[in-house]
Amino acid sequence: MAKKSAPSVKQLQKDARSYIWQPFTQMQEWEQHPPLIISRGKGTVLYDVEGNAYLDGTSSIWVNLHGHRHPTIDQAIRHQLTQIAHSTLLGISHPLAIQLAKALVGITPKGLEKVFFSDNGSTAVEIALKMAIQYWQQCPVPEPRKTQFIHLGLAYHGDTVGSMSLSGIELFQKPFSSLLFPGRHQIEAPYCYRCPLNLQFPQCQMACLDPLESLLQAKHVEIAGVVVEPMVQGVAGLIPSPPGYLQRIHELCRQYQVLFIADEVATGFGRTGRMFACDHEAVTPDIMALAKGMTGGYLPLAATLTTHEIYSAFLGQPQEGRTFFHGHSYTGNPLGCAAALANLSVFKTERTLVKVQRRIPRLTTFLETLAQDPWVGDIRQCGYMVGIELVKNQSNKEPFPMIDRIGHRVTVAARTLGLLIRPIGNIMILMPPLSATLQELKQMVDILKVAISIVRASKSAEKIS
Ligand SMILES: *Cc1c(COP(=O)(O)O)cnc(C)c1O
Repeated sequence: MAKKSAPSVKQLQKDARSYIWQPFTQMQEWEQHPPLIISRGKGTVLYDVEGNAYLDGTSSIWVNLHGHRHPTIDQAIRHQLTQIAHSTLLGISHPLAIQLAKALVGITPKGLEKVFFSDNGSTAVEIALKMAIQYWQQCPVPEPRKTQFIHLGLAYHGDTVGSMSLSGIELFQKPFSSLLFPGRHQIEAPYCYRCPLNLQFPQCQMACLDPLESLLQAKHVEIAGVVVEPMVQGVAGLIPSPPGYLQRIHELCRQYQVLFIADEVATGFGRTGRMFACDHEAVTPDIMALAKGMTGGYLPLAATLTTHEIYSAFLGQPQEGRTFFHGHSYTGNPLGCAAALANLSVFKTERTLVKVQRRIPRLTTFLETLAQDPWVGDIRQCGYMVGIELVKNQSNKEPFPMIDRIGHRVTVAARTLGLLIRPIGNIMILMPPLSATLQELKQMVDILKVAISIVRASKSAEKIS
């Protein structure tokens, strides 16, 4: 058979618009422009089908850690292909899932001892919620009334119905309000940059957590768990929590006998400068969800970890119905596990965390050069997670009207300069791979600076004309 020649760029662009419905994308707008089609990557750089290079400023949407085409991870996947691509975890096992589970228990906060695999972050959270609910029905002193959850304002935990129910972003939930599960309680996000209570940390003594305490006091008999993104709320627009915040929530959970569920899907695997965000405050959650960086950004794999105590509540004779009836076709996929194990080995051989910790203050210094820009409001950083807020008026941080689509326009300008970045509203989210060099980090910030000034110039030209 003759080898089919690759489709032309024009054909790909046409077919992309004909056949794909893109995630989180207004397709009417998307269809109006030739789509960017990435075909290759190496390290921090992505290449489109025409050969143009772009710095990967989003880590390919928060997943890549050690760069693209990392030889160790590439090799691990290739090797696993010589063994088997997929075999199930339903009732049987495979070596890499076993090795990976052991490795994860070794590096996650002490006390997390059992690993339940799945394949994406939303699902890892969904599993955490189901585990919590069933646990309270089956624990030694059952508390079947504990069926409700508390989450933070502006939280994001995924797009499946359960994880979406505990999100605090109205725009994503609105069409599905009929599906959101009952018994959800929201407490204000720890938004110190613009404290809703108008207080200053640390004099405030974290008064924003008083409502959580009152809620737990009044309702703890009905509350199964508190779900948080530890240290920083990502999709909220990068909202870091103040020091001690996580510990305080953890304490309150202990005091009122509710489970503490940490969604480390975005923060896990070094993104905040520690292996896990919970490590910053030495907190062990009852349940922890992991995904995004788990395979170094290579393959879809996720895990929900929990304690021996929670695991034991599910033990019994098969006919007792205490089994956790949950699982997916590709749960713990061997290729994904191979990538995940290689990812962890790269952390060791390249001393990734040591390097990242050294580079974080340098990144902060680069970011400070943005502060003078008249359009830059807050610059929020937690390790390699950065949110740069664009505002109309720097002195009072007056936001741009959404209709101006400033974040989107800066993204488009940055792309022409060789940086891929994706905004959340008017907040530019910069999330470089952990392997990005100082030079690449500086380049990302510099391009962003120029992109902002290009959009500002075009905006003032619009006003004049
Ligand atoms: C991305 C994300 C999720 C969802 O993960 P998916 O793999 O996209 O389903 C859940 N929680 C947080 C904190 C995330 O950032």
